Amino acid sequence: MRLMIDEGKCKTAGICVKRCPQVFQFTRGSKKAMVITDPIPKEFELLCRDLIIACPEDAIIQIKD
Ligand code: SF4
Repeated sequence: MRLMIDEGKCKTAGICVKRCPQVFQFTRGSKKAMVITDPIPKEFELLCRDLIIACPEDAIIQIKD
């Protein structure tokens, strides 16, 4: 599983960063989220699927292989 953030949509809600800091962190200075692991470790895939739905801006995008 691979993910990216649509920076144009991300509005700093921080849900992803709070719930899964192993995968999401804020970009220094901008407060937009970024994905720090590629691919997503298997143990975080389920949580990440939830976060795709939970993101209020639909900013977490799954990259199709
Ligand atoms: S939950 Fe969505 S809007 Fe909030 S920081 Fe993460 S990607 Fe951005």
